[in-house]
Amino acid sequence: MIVVLKPRTTEENIARVEHMIRERGLDTHTIRGEDLTIIGCIGDTTAVDPKLFEVDSSVERVMHVQEPYKLANRAFHPEDSVIDVSGVKIGGAHLALIAGPCSVESFDQVLEIARAAKTSGANLLRGGAFKPRTSPYSFQGLGVEGLEILCAVKKEVGLPIVTELMSPDHLELFDEKVDLIQIGARNMQNFDLLKQLGRLKKPILLKRGLNATYEEWIMSAEYIMAAGNEHVILCERGIRTFESYTRNTLDLQSIPVLRHKTHLPVIVDPSHAGGKWWLVEPMAKAAIAAGADGLMVEVHNNPECALCDGAQSLKPAKYDALLKEIRQIAEVIGKKM
Ligand code: PEP
Ligand code: MN
Repeated sequence: MIVVLKPRTTEENIARVEHMIRERGLDTHTIRGEDLTIIGCIGDTTAVDPKLFEVDSSVERVMHVQEPYKLANRAFHPEDSVIDVSGVKIGGAHLALIAGPCSVESFDQVLEIARAAKTSGANLLRGGAFKPRTSPYSFQGLGVEGLEILCAVKKEVGLPIVTELMSPDHLELFDEKVDLIQIGARNMQNFDLLKQLGRLKKPILLKRGLNATYEEWIMSAEYIMAAGNEHVILCERGIRTFESYTRNTLDLQSIPVLRHKTHLPVIVDPSHAGGKWWLVEPMAKAAIAAGADGLMVEVHNNPECALCDGAQSLKPAKYDALLKEIRQIAEVIGKKM
């Protein structure tokens, strides 16, 4: 349930209405927008009669929210959320351009890629240190050493870092060292991990599960938000379909749907969607044209020898050419790069 207050309601009256709602056993979440103040009511609203609030002199109207997600719901927060990642804004008019290798392999490798990506216009550096691999015999990432390499490159190049967290054991370490914590497709519904992320203030990049519906994906964001951390960015990375030519199927419709249903920024990872480097450019352009708030692209200086996902990685020169085209699309749709 959402209680919309009349324009120019005083702080005293806002507090009074909040108190009235809490007296009925509900929690309140108040958003003070430019025009409107909205109080989201969280908890079991089925037994509460909306008329109780409708008659109040400060209340404009009361709306019922059917969706099971509240804090992530656009109805609770009509304006786009803009999330600050160590000074880089994501959402609204700002484009997130995340680039880097699938896996951290060495300091020199990450440094070379980061320098090139930054020159092209990337504003965040990605790189996996802990890798969720299908086979236990595949390269599992450099672990803590990989994280240290990312931090060292960040110092050198100045790009904030994005990397995947898989275990709650590393929560404190990531909180201290990482600018944007990535939760991968395979952990999207690891509810205990999501609850733990709620204890942090750190922004979270929540990738879509391999077979997750929109509602399941948003409910995972809601887990993090309900536990206290509202800095969530969603990332579409392709879903499993019957098609086996591509690694996954990029669901471009998810961008307008998610932006309609939630106020959270939505970015797209075309690399893990297609699984082929030459699909990255057309899908990245389509994603930005469809309203995505950014891109996460795998870039490698020597994809033929990459320890993971070389086939879907762009060489730095190709990434540079891609961002030149993205810049033109961004201009048309009113996003800053
Ligand atoms: C990744 O971004 O490195 C990754 C493993 O992606 P996903 O979780 O989407 O498969
Ligand atoms: Mn990868």
